[in-house]
Amino acid sequence: MLRLPQFSVQTPATLEAALGLLAAHAGRALPVAGGTDLLPNLKHRLAEPEVLISLAGVSELRGISVGADGALTLGAMAPLDQIASHPDVIARAPALAQAAGIVASPQIRRMGTLGGNVMLDTRCRYINQTHFWRKALGFCLKKDGTVCHVVAGGQKCVAAASNDTAPALMTLGGELVLRSQAGGERRMKVDDLWKTDGIFNKKTRLDELVVSVHVPAQHAGHHGAYGKLRERESFDFPQLGIAVRIDLEAGRVADADVAMVALQARPLHLKDVADTLRGTTPGAADFVAAVDKVAERAHQQCHPLPNIPGDPDYRREMVPVYVRRTLLAAVGLGSRPVA
Ligand SMILES: Cc1cc2nc3c(=O)[nH]c(=O)nc-3n(C[C@H](O)[C@H](O)[C@H](O)COP(=O)(O)OP(=O)(O)OC[C@H]3O[C@@H](n4cnc5c(N)ncnc54)[C@H](O)[C@@H]3O)c2cc1C
Ligand code: SF4
Repeated sequence: MLRLPQFSVQTPATLEAALGLLAAHAGRALPVAGGTDLLPNLKHRLAEPEVLISLAGVSELRGISVGADGALTLGAMAPLDQIASHPDVIARAPALAQAAGIVASPQIRRMGTLGGNVMLDTRCRYINQTHFWRKALGFCLKKDGTVCHVVAGGQKCVAAASNDTAPALMTLGGELVLRSQAGGERRMKVDDLWKTDGIFNKKTRLDELVVSVHVPAQHAGHHGAYGKLRERESFDFPQLGIAVRIDLEAGRVADADVAMVALQARPLHLKDVADTLRGTTPGAADFVAAVDKVAERAHQQCHPLPNIPGDPDYRREMVPVYVRRTLLAAVGLGSRPVA
């Protein structure tokens, strides 16, 4: 049985108290939300905090609401199953509801939160292992070692961003509301959150918390979908995650976006999607031809690495298939790919 290391747990009841504790234990503390990723990682000694600051009692971090302008505010502690089943999220941000609804398994979605999902650590087949296993291999750059086992001679960790909600939030123009005691409140586009460094792939401060996620009101003709390739349909991290937004005006594509996860340390937008699809009519031949072109370009742009489970050549061949099917599903032309 894998045991947790020694640490103390603080249970603040307010956001101010949580921020104060993070500041007081700077660099030695980590926030814990649902704990569904952090606790297994602690068992594997991927992080060794002296203090865990539980956000479970901080009511300011909960709730889902719609503003007068139609924007969604989603508390960082909103559980994923609540995001997936909330009528306002389903109606206004379908790709996000779908992405949240196929994270892991039902039990994990009840514990796991949106904030924890956005802030999820990167994953790699050589790091998400026991300490004993990693030691036998000789550790690696991300923790305790000096080499990368994915890229021979590599000096940069390329562990993969594996959070399903990240690409969905990127296509929706989502923004994080962040707070720290020293820096106060600031907003950051989810697009701007990422670094290409798999050791820590986010531009947040160590003493900062995600308070909420803001999803602006979408176009009146908004459509969205999330497709996911994974080993087991019942529960698994993505081997590819594909979020799609298509905005229609008078039956034609006015704007579109595709973002993907589970390739490299940062989720990425596909290039030229809007220019290729704009002006085409879903259901007509021009749309199908444009979708095929986007899928073909996705194949050129995406080069999965042997960083997460799943043969990288197979994952690459699945890129155009999943991009195509998710684009069609977004406008009701087929079912979205989820296995
Ligand atoms: C078997 C299994 C399968 C899984 N499958 C998937 C999957 O398919 N897709 C997927 O995306 N994830 C998956 N996960 C990972 C995880 O369950 C989810 O990502 C979940 O949403 C994490 O949320 P949490 O609240 O449990 O985060 P926690 O584990 O509590 O925290 C995760 C990280 O975020 C930080 N954090 C949490 N809240 C905040 C905050 N408000 N501000 C700043 N930092 C914060 C923590 O310090 C920690 O570093 C899986 C996990 C398991 C065990
Ligand atoms: S990509 Fe390389 S350095 Fe990063 S976790 Fe995997 S093996 Fe370690």
